[in-house]
Amino acid sequence: MTIRKVAIIGLGLLGGSIGLASKERAADIVTTGYDRDPDTRAAAKRRELVGTVCDSASEAVIDADLVILCVPVGAMESAARDFGDHLPEGAIVSDVGSSKKSVQNALARALSGHTIIPAPPVAGTEQSGPAAGFSTLFADRWCIITPPESADQNAVDALCDFWSRLGSKVEIMDADHHDLVLAVTSHIPHLIAYTIVGTASDLEDVTRSEVIKYSAGGFRDFTRIAASDPVMWRDVFLNNKSAVLEMLGRFTEDLTALQRAIRSGDGEKLHDLFSRTRAIRREVIDQGQDDSKPDFGREH
Ligand code: NAP
Repeated sequence: MTIRKVAIIGLGLLGGSIGLASKERAADIVTTGYDRDPDTRAAAKRRELVGTVCDSASEAVIDADLVILCVPVGAMESAARDFGDHLPEGAIVSDVGSSKKSVQNALARALSGHTIIPAPPVAGTEQSGPAAGFSTLFADRWCIITPPESADQNAVDALCDFWSRLGSKVEIMDADHHDLVLAVTSHIPHLIAYTIVGTASDLEDVTRSEVIKYSAGGFRDFTRIAASDPVMWRDVFLNNKSAVLEMLGRFTEDLTALQRAIRSGDGEKLHDLFSRTRAIRREVIDQGQDDSKPDFGREH
């Protein structure tokens, strides 16, 4: 199976980046796109995020070999219903949503009988909207393909090939396992950032201006994550509920153990944990997931 035409539904950070990366790295592939917001469609035209910006989802999917849904997780089902009756037979439907089991079920409900193969990239930023996309977002980042057991191998191979062409490293994973892994590497860190920034802003004995003035002490790195899109993250927590709650249970136990160590003056326990976490940072850098510049490369 060869992918010659890709339709992108949702032209924000992820959709725009897929369009730009396709143009730069897979110029033989024709791209169309649709977003429900007319202002976003106009911005997508100005930035040439895709070859043709369409006025409806059903127009965008005409003759598509691959349709990629790039909308918030909670909007997947209704976005899929918009073009379901116009989907070419044999087209692959994929999505980049951050929770997999719920989206797989939602798309199966909306598009029964079609080939559905989710493929969420482990790549993003705290920005959103049509101005946020850039062509190198996926370069050397993982894209996790989560095919259902019944998926046609030719379609899986074609999707893997598409993401490799955009610069991604590709991994196949079960949807449930994806949800657990991402709960701990992405969803819980976001929840912690939202909590700590929320807690700091609610404090009464430390003023808001002091929190902002002295934020370089570590707080500002949480504020970057906590600035992420509220709709996207609301939907992630509502749709990856069980994996997030399972990991949150583990996290809460570990936090309570640390609280006990601080109260009882158990320096050895603190030192042991902080040494292990430092080693993990080294591994993240060694595997090319970040670089080793101090303070994330900020200029001082
Ligand atoms: P985004 O920048 O907000 O873009 C989403 C776009 O989809 C918005 O323009 C939105 O329009 C549009 N939309 C919503 N419902 C629609 C519908 N029914 N039909 C057509 N367009 C619709 O969000 P994003 O960051 O690209 O995220 C998109 C998906 O990627 C999410 O499922 C998210 O979980 C996943 N993801 C995100 C990241 C990340 O770091 N951001 C990383 C990996 C995966 P409105 O503004 O009018 O709602």
